[in-house]
Amino acid sequence: MNQIELNNIIFTYSIEAKKVRSIRLKLVSPTSFSISCPKFTPELIIKKFIISNADWITKHSSKIPKPKNILDLKSLTILDRQYQLLCLKTQKDSVLIFESEQKIYANISIFSESHAKKILEKKLRIMALKLIKGELRHLSNMFSFKYNRVTVRNQSSRYGSCSSRGNLNFNWQIIFFPTEKFRHILLHELTHLEIKNHSKTFWNQLSLYDPNCKQNNLWLKNEGTKHFIV
Ligand SMILES: [Zn+2]
Repeated sequence: MNQIELNNIIFTYSIEAKKVRSIRLKLVSPTSFSISCPKFTPELIIKKFIISNADWITKHSSKIPKPKNILDLKSLTILDRQYQLLCLKTQKDSVLIFESEQKIYANISIFSESHAKKILEKKLRIMALKLIKGELRHLSNMFSFKYNRVTVRNQSSRYGSCSSRGNLNFNWQIIFFPTEKFRHILLHELTHLEIKNHSKTFWNQLSLYDPNCKQNNLWLKNEGTKHFIV
């Protein structure tokens, strides 16, 4: 890890040489970022690049939420439904979700933050796919959309995508958003089935399905990732 001081804040950063044409910077946390650069880029050039972007880095990194500590979390809100979260040290790993009692038990064999996250994510991803598929079916019945395959992934920077073949992909952590925002993301990708770009026509069409389109989109830009847990 490298260190650099920018506007009186000390940042750590990693460098990865990749098949890219120019230097790229990705914010990771309020005090760290990663750099990807073409192979054999001199360190001095990388430093110059970072310094020339110092204001942008300090401005935007402050908005990045601190990673949540799963072992300290007392509850999880999934589509407006609050579940009590209980992490227990046990022999075997398992996650039990009790719908009617609104409780989630994370039984973990190794009581560490990274292990708890891994075990919980595995189970909640399955739950997310079910919830997403259910809501997509509901929306398709209402507005007659025709999509292909549905998958979930963990991408920190994107909420969803729609391929040219009509396959839909979503960030599984959108289940931690209020239902209205969750639905907006699904409708956004469903609208892409017909209109691939983000033209005015696209937004007008999306507004027909989601009258609160503008506010929801703004909320997702500013608040969305704060609700992610991993
Ligand atoms: Zn889009």
